[in-house]
Amino acid sequence: MARRVGKDRFVIEQAEAESLTRELKFSSVLETLAWLVDSAQKLARPPISNFHVGAVGLASDGRILIGVNLEFPGAPLNQSVHAEQFLATSASQNSAERIEYIAVSAAPCGHCRQFLQEIRGAPEIKILIADGSSEIVFRPLSQLLPQRFGPDDLLDKDVPLLLEPHHNGLGFGSDSVDPTCYSNGGLDRWGELKRAALKAANGAHAPYSGCPSGVAVMDSEGRIFAGSYAESAAYNPSLPPVQAALVAYVAGGGGEYEEIVAAALVEEEGAVVGQEMAARMLFGAVAPRCDFRVFHCRCVDGKKKRKEEKISSL
Ligand SMILES: [Zn+2]
Repeated sequence: MARRVGKDRFVIEQAEAESLTRELKFSSVLETLAWLVDSAQKLARPPISNFHVGAVGLASDGRILIGVNLEFPGAPLNQSVHAEQFLATSASQNSAERIEYIAVSAAPCGHCRQFLQEIRGAPEIKILIADGSSEIVFRPLSQLLPQRFGPDDLLDKDVPLLLEPHHNGLGFGSDSVDPTCYSNGGLDRWGELKRAALKAANGAHAPYSGCPSGVAVMDSEGRIFAGSYAESAAYNPSLPPVQAALVAYVAGGGGEYEEIVAAALVEEEGAVVGQEMAARMLFGAVAPRCDFRVFHCRCVDGKKKRKEEKISSL
C-alpha cells in the first residue's frame, strides 16, 4: 500500500484509483483522495518552513494527481511553489482537462485560491480541507473565494485557460539553428533541451502579458523535465517556468536539485515580462553547478494574437 504514492508516483491511473478505493473499503474515490493526503504530505520539500502540504486532486478522467509544496533555500520566499499550484501544473503537464475535486492538508491560502481561478469552471472545483479534524465534506471553491477576480475580468471567453490546449506559435526560425547543437548525427543535449523548452513555451499560459516562456532541465543521468510559464489574472500568483520545470522534475522522480546539470530557458527577446533574471537567480540558489542558457524564440505563426497588437489598436 505504501507504494501507491511515492517518489515517482504523483499520478495514479483511474483503474488503480478504483482498485485502491475497493481495497480500502471506501464507498467513493473521494474518500481515497482524503486518505492519500497524508502520503502526499510526505513528498513535500519545504526545508525552510518544514510545513508539509499535500494536495490530492481528482481529474475529470478519473486520474488522481498529487501536489506538494516546494521551498528553495537561498531564494526569496515568493519563489516557493504551493501544493495547489504544483497540482494544477502537474494536471497541465499530464493533459488533464479539468480538476473536479481537491483534498488538501491545510486550508488553501489566498494565493492558491487565486491561482486556481485560471482553470475553467474554477468556482465549481470542490475542496476538502483534510486536516483530520472534521468529516469529509467537499465545498465549492466559490465558497472559499466569493466575489472572485479572474480570467473573466480580463479575457475574451474564447481564450484558452490553464488546462486547455495552447499553441503560442513560437519557433526559432530557420536562421537561428545553432549548428553546434548537432553531434554524431543527432541533437546534442542543448538541442534536446532547446526543443523541450520551446515546446513548453508553446504550451505556456500567458494570456495577460503575451509573453510565453518555457524551461527544460537535464539531470546527471540525461533525463529532461520541462515546464511552461503559467500566469494568473492577479499577476503575483503566476508560476514562472523554472518552477514549472521543477514541478516536472519532482513529479518525475528527480533527485536533489543539485543533480540538475543543464537548463534552457526559451522566451522572446525583449519580452516585456522576462524570466531570465529570476531563473538565473533560482538556479544559482538551488543548482549552482547547472549550466543555464537562454535561447530566444520568435513568433512564427502569423495568426497569433499579440497583446501589444491588441493594445496598440485601442
Ligand atoms: Zn497556497
